[in-house]
Amino acid sequence: MQDARLLKDLIEHMPVGVVVHGPQSEIISANQTAADILGLSIDQMLGKVAIDPAWRFEASDGSPMALADYPVNRVLASRASVRDLVIKVHRPVTRDVVWVVCNAFPSIGSDGAVLQVITCFTDVTALKVAEQALQASEERLNLVLKGSSDAPWDWDLVAGTMYYSPRWWQMIGREFNEVAPTPDLWISWLHPDDGKRVQGRMDELLTDPAITSFEEEFQLAKKSGGYLPVLCRGFILRNAAGIPIRLSGTNMDLTERKQTEARIHQLAYFDVLTGLPNRTMLIERLKTAMAMAQRTRQKGALLFIDLDNFKSLNDTLGHDVGDKLLKMVAGRLQQSVRKSDQVARLGGDEFVVVLENLGEDLQVAAIESETAGQKIVTALNESFYLSNQPFRTSPSIGITLFDEDSCGCDELLKQADVAMYQAKAAGRNTLRFFDPSMQAEVDQRVAMENDLRAALQNGELRLHCQPQVNHKGELIGGEALVRWDHPVRGMVTPDQFIPLSEATGLILPLGEWVLESACRTLVQWERKARLASIPLSVNISVHQVRDPDFVSRVMAILQRTGVNPARLRLELTESLMADNVNDVITKMNALRAEGIRFSLDDFGTGYSSLSYLKRFPLAELKIDRTFTRDVMTDPNDVAIIEIIIALAKQLGLDVVAEGVETEAQFEFLLSRHCGVFQGYLFGRPVPIEQFGN
Ligand code: C2E
Ligand code: CA
Ligand code: CA
Repeated sequence: MQDARLLKDLIEHMPVGVVVHGPQSEIISANQTAADILGLSIDQMLGKVAIDPAWRFEASDGSPMALADYPVNRVLASRASVRDLVIKVHRPVTRDVVWVVCNAFPSIGSDGAVLQVITCFTDVTALKVAEQALQASEERLNLVLKGSSDAPWDWDLVAGTMYYSPRWWQMIGREFNEVAPTPDLWISWLHPDDGKRVQGRMDELLTDPAITSFEEEFQLAKKSGGYLPVLCRGFILRNAAGIPIRLSGTNMDLTERKQTEARIHQLAYFDVLTGLPNRTMLIERLKTAMAMAQRTRQKGALLFIDLDNFKSLNDTLGHDVGDKLLKMVAGRLQQSVRKSDQVARLGGDEFVVVLENLGEDLQVAAIESETAGQKIVTALNESFYLSNQPFRTSPSIGITLFDEDSCGCDELLKQADVAMYQAKAAGRNTLRFFDPSMQAEVDQRVAMENDLRAALQNGELRLHCQPQVNHKGELIGGEALVRWDHPVRGMVTPDQFIPLSEATGLILPLGEWVLESACRTLVQWERKARLASIPLSVNISVHQVRDPDFVSRVMAILQRTGVNPARLRLELTESLMADNVNDVITKMNALRAEGIRFSLDDFGTGYSSLSYLKRFPLAELKIDRTFTRDVMTDPNDVAIIEIIIALAKQLGLDVVAEGVETEAQFEFLLSRHCGVFQGYLFGRPVPIEQFGN
């Protein structure tokens, strides 16, 4: 009796609903938990029959449950237990739903008949709701992943396995799992530029427990070649001990975004019509150029270019033709400057060119930028073929120079603009400097250039000659030195016009005149006893040697004058050695074969490579006069002269000392076994007709 009571109490308070049915499925008894779960009081439940149930059941898949399938009926029919049946119960009063897991079993009498069916059930509603939510969110996630273009991947760090989704493979143009999906497969496909950085980031991620998620851009090799830019985003899962166990994330294809970015960049910084940098880009580059000028102390120049008749062209021939011209102008501008120079279009028919590295000297920079400007003028003066019609235009160019002390970009642009209007005012198709002194400098140079051109034609050049002597002071040679007998300025020394003639190309006709005059002189000397056998040296500029026709030009002069080539000596400078050495040597050998000898002028001032020196077919070295000048005061110069003489001896070359002005210098050079001397001590350059008198 005691036991029965205890059992009843136990059942009453169990967290499991217990309902006992009779053989007709009628409810005989139920505990409170059952009443709570099923939503009726115990009294209301008693006598209820499963044939006409108060509760509607649904199976776990949501289908209505047939009466025969109700657990109690199944047990009554089969006499077998029902286990762990999940049922959705629609409750009568509250008209809501609970989920239960039900177990039912028969109590069978000695005659084998079912006496009672005991059903026990627990409320799993909360679990079921959670499960459904989870399922829904998983479905949602799957849907999202399917719909999104991102490519998921999942790295199980414990198992050392990697899952790359089909989309992941597709992104890089491959079949799903076409290569064994090892965890470091993707690393082996990283762009070489990204490898180190991404691996460093991975290491950080795996070792720093503070990091829970990451975002990294890199490029993955595509099967078809090339690389795919991706944004890789993911999170890292750690166990309780903080050890990383899993990395999951997605790769996003950035191709389109990159293209858009590039397009935006193009639109923001480049002119649509010509593809040249626009004003914004120009300002940025100009800032960089100015910062550079500050660091390198090199000058730069800003050229503001405006077409002279663009508006009328646009009005008469139409905008299509105008656009075509602007494109062609852009092309010519780019062709007429160095690769490193910047060309930009400000808008309309306004262009800007930025020149850098024009040297530290302001005058040199002015002349360089003037030359560049002239080149642009020439290039734009050539006819343009617009719809098969030749069309001519001209630019007006304003130039301003900048250096480390310059004002801002806007101010520079303004200066160049002002100068451009001065060019317009000066009659167009020309250029003007913003700085008047610069303009004067350039004007003078232009005048000089014109004068020099005329000088060549008008026969204003003269040849002077300076004697060379041996250790006894006997005349053994001469050096031809050019002079310009300027109608206004008098006798101009070569230092004032040789560099200009080199910059303008006039050195070619000028050098040819000098060489031909020297050869004619040598022919005349043959009739003078004192001079009949001495050689004459002629200075040759590197620009002459660079001329592809150099050898044939010299040969032609030999022919024309009938000179004995053995008496001709050509003086070259060390700057030749910075040129195409093989080409220079070939040319020298060709002339050497004719009997002409070569001398290396101003030796010691340039950058002669001693290893090159041997390869040139030279006959003599000329010690530069600056060493001779200081030899009595500067021990360095003593050493240099001694080395040059020793070197010449080694190479089997004669040595000529230039600029010998004093007996002391002569004595010193004699003591060091120098063989030939030239300088005011023995004679100044004199007009060549008076030489040797
Ligand atoms: P360079 O070839 O070194 O010529 C020697 C220069 O030194 C000459 O100057 C000469 O007048 C000067 N000189 C000679 N003896 C003394 C001396 O004792 N003391 C001093 N202080 N100077 C002396 P010049 O004639 O003014 O020529 C200057 C430079 O112009 C030449 O230097 C040469 O590089 C160039 N040059 C002259 N004529 C020609 C030419 O026909 N063609 C080329 N390409 N360059 C030439
Ligand atoms: Ca010389
Ligand atoms: Ca010299």
